[in-house]
Amino acid sequence: MVKTFNYEFDNRSFKGETSVSLGLYINGQFVEGKKGETFDVTNPSTGEKLTSVCTGTKEDVDIAVKAAQKAFDTTWGLKCPGSQRAAVLHRIANLMEKHIDEFSALETLNTGKPFSWSKKSDLAMALDTFRYYAGWADKISGKVIETTEDKLAYTRHEPIGVVGQIIAWNFPVMLLAWKIGPALACGNCVILKPSEFTPLTALLFAKIVHEAGVPAGVINIINGTGPKVGQAIAEHPGIEKIAFTGSTLTGRKIMEASGKSNLKNVTLELGGKSPNIIMDDADIDQAVEWTVHGVFWNLGQCCCAGTRIFVHEKIYAEFMEKFTARSKKVKVGDPFDPETDLGALVSDIQYNRVMSYIEAGKKDGAKIVLGGDPIQKDGYWLGPTIFTDTKPNMSIVREEIFGPVGVIIKFKDDDDVVHQANDTTYGLAAAVFSKNIDRALKTAHRLNAGTIWVNCYNQLHAQVPFGGYKQSGIGRELGEYALENYTSVKAVHVNFGHTI
Ligand code: NAD
Repeated sequence: MVKTFNYEFDNRSFKGETSVSLGLYINGQFVEGKKGETFDVTNPSTGEKLTSVCTGTKEDVDIAVKAAQKAFDTTWGLKCPGSQRAAVLHRIANLMEKHIDEFSALETLNTGKPFSWSKKSDLAMALDTFRYYAGWADKISGKVIETTEDKLAYTRHEPIGVVGQIIAWNFPVMLLAWKIGPALACGNCVILKPSEFTPLTALLFAKIVHEAGVPAGVINIINGTGPKVGQAIAEHPGIEKIAFTGSTLTGRKIMEASGKSNLKNVTLELGGKSPNIIMDDADIDQAVEWTVHGVFWNLGQCCCAGTRIFVHEKIYAEFMEKFTARSKKVKVGDPFDPETDLGALVSDIQYNRVMSYIEAGKKDGAKIVLGGDPIQKDGYWLGPTIFTDTKPNMSIVREEIFGPVGVIIKFKDDDDVVHQANDTTYGLAAAVFSKNIDRALKTAHRLNAGTIWVNCYNQLHAQVPFGGYKQSGIGRELGEYALENYTSVKAVHVNFGHTI
């Protein structure tokens, strides 16, 4: 049940290996699923099978929930002071840092993303997140509220109990940290299901949690498919809260399942079709750099990818020339090569999905000015792709593609672009480029999205909330705001007078 993975990086000058247990991590131990079933995990950059991982069942979820409830009542929750929870979170971060190359390599093997990005972005953000929430763990407290002359009330921000967490495959270890960091800081116990496409770094994480001093039952990791394990988590009556990252379609199913069971407190981080607006007074060279990063980072497999690129008609020609030239320089290739910017798409399913959008765009009459053709080698490869001459009702303009595909849309003035940018069912993120800060901020305030970047893109920080308007989600992750997701507020009324 243990598998060792070998890897090489820095132009093959560094060789390493990492071993993970392939079981379910329940009550502080790796176990096989009750049905003894497994599923295959693939290396997207070669298309080859990496290993098989144990899959859980409804029964395994139930066992994990009972273990988590026991841990909540006996060793964690209100039994463990915030300062001790902080120490545990710091130790988690320190151990992840100690094994950062192993985590980064495993993330790269399983997702196809470049090792350099796994390390400097995904792992760095995961470490920051655990450390940030370690800082909060002993600072979570309520208020005293004066009511009448001889009475008052005070509030307690109590942990909820056992929380379910279901995550996507595009940033596996980073999303795990976004979920587990605040949940543990607030004193909750966790049942987490990674994506069935990318279960490996969560298993490496499970290996370090015991060493970090996390009591048995506090963190449980159950791999498996959405309909089997995800659904069982969403329906379980012993789970009071569910936090989900994934598609809007699955988000709906989770809300339904939660509603039909015990009306869980639900937070959702869903999809997007984010607008990136380049005004005529933008610093064009800077806008080009950020736009390339905004639309192609992680091969566009990014919920906040700036896929609708709105360019003012006055600077359209200059921007397009520079943007296309810069996009051509993006290096797609071996994820362990330090020069690589983009690796492979995560799976054959995702590859086929992205290609079908490209075909639809062509069929609908949009023009491809870069890319669009598959790269012919084993694995799931596609380079930066840019469409122009689109119409607002085309699927490539309206739907989340989740691949390296951007559409360029010309606009004539600020009202026009704000109207077009907001014409979407999503509202996760947006960006505006302008050297006139008044104009940039006025536009930022008119855009319907949970995150707005001004003269930059894809800036994510543990201390800044992230989440969506409209069908991009419910609730906010990160920052102080995420603490609300993982606490219940109790008001205690006290009478210190002698009359009714
Ligand atoms: P997905 O919805 O297919 O799967 C997400 C998770 O849900 C997986 O773990 C999957 O196994 C599980 N799942 C699937 N069906 C389920 C069910 N019926 N019940 C319970 N769980 C179920 O999404 P994906 O393809 O893994 O990820 C891509 C999507 O995630 C994109 O839409 C992207 O925008 C979104 N995403 C959003 C954010 C954000 O913070 N807003 C971050 C990353 C990804």
